[in-house]
Amino acid sequence: MSKGNVLVTGGAGFLGSWLCDFLVREGFRVTCVDNLSSGDRKNLEHLDVEFIKHDARKPFNLGIKVDYIFHLASRASPADFQKYPVDILLTNSLGTYNVLKFAEQNNARFVLTSTSEVYGNPLQYPQNEDYWGNVNPIGPRSCYDESKRFSEALAMAFYRESGLDIRVGRIFNTYGERMRKDDGRVTPNLINQALRNEPITVYGDGSQTRSFCYVSDMVDGLTRLMFLESLRGEVINLGSPNEISILELAELIKGLVNTNSEIIFKPLPPDDPTRRKPDIAKAKQKLDWEPVISLEEGLARTIGFFRASQ
Ligand code: UDP
Repeated sequence: MSKGNVLVTGGAGFLGSWLCDFLVREGFRVTCVDNLSSGDRKNLEHLDVEFIKHDARKPFNLGIKVDYIFHLASRASPADFQKYPVDILLTNSLGTYNVLKFAEQNNARFVLTSTSEVYGNPLQYPQNEDYWGNVNPIGPRSCYDESKRFSEALAMAFYRESGLDIRVGRIFNTYGERMRKDDGRVTPNLINQALRNEPITVYGDGSQTRSFCYVSDMVDGLTRLMFLESLRGEVINLGSPNEISILELAELIKGLVNTNSEIIFKPLPPDDPTRRKPDIAKAKQKLDWEPVISLEEGLARTIGFFRASQ
C-alpha cells in the first residue's frame, strides 16, 4: 500500500535519485520532475517512479496530486555558477515560486533543500541556523547564494501567509556515487584525477576547509525533516561536523586510490569560502540525526563507483 504521493523536483540528479531510492523502498508513490540540465535519466532507470521532463521555471500544471514535495531542482556545482548564472537565479526564484504555488494547490508538505551557501564566506564558526551569513551580493557565487536566500525567504513567506507546512534543510557539502564525473566539485574532480593518474588540482594552498557528508546520511536527514511531525517553519542544518582541509582531502584520496598522481596547486576561485563547518545541534535535537558513515568509508564507496565508470 502506498504511504502517499511524493514529488521530487530535481529527482534525476545525484541527491534527488538517492532520495527516490529511499522513497520507493519505503512504499511511497514517487513522481520526479527534472529538466535534465544537470540530472541524468540513467540515475532513475532502476526505479519504479513516474518521470516528467519539466523545467521548474515554467508553471506546474502537471495533472497530478501530491502529499509531499522535496524541492531540489537547481544546478548546485560552483563550476556551473560561472556558466549558467541567470538560469540558476531564475530556477531558485521563479522555479521555487512555481513549486510553492503547486504545493499550495495540493496542500502538500514542502521541504526546501537550501544550502550552506546562504552563510557565504562565514564569519561565525561553526555555522548555526541563527547566523545570517556573509554573502557578496554581486560576486561570482551570488547567483546561487542570493537565489537560495531568496528561496528561503519565499518559502517562509508562504509559511507565514498561507500556513503551508514548510521545512528548510541547509545542506552542507555532500558526496557519493552518481555525482557527475565532470561536475567540477572537489570530490569527483580529485577522485577522477587520481584514478587517471593525472595531477590532483588543489585550489589555493588547500588550507580552506569543508565538512563532507556521505549521501545516504543526507537522505536520512532530509527524510526525517519531511516525515517527522511538528517541524513546521523549521530551518535545520544538515551536514557532517567533521571538518577537513582540502589539502588533507587530496592526500586522503591519493592514499585511498593508491595513485602516482602528484598534488598541484591552482589559483583559488574568487569568494571561495575559507572555513565551513555546520553546527548540527539542532538536527540532533529535532531530528535525532547525525551522520554515521565515516569519510574513509564514503570515499571508498565513491571511488569504487568512479573506478567502475572509467
Ligand atoms: N577545489 C579544489 N580542487 C578542485 C575543485 C575544488 O581544490 O578540483 C576546492 C574549492 O576551491 C573549494 C573546495 O574545494 O575550496 C570545495 O569546492 P566544491 O566546488 O566542491 O564546493 P564548495 O564547497 O566550494 O561549494
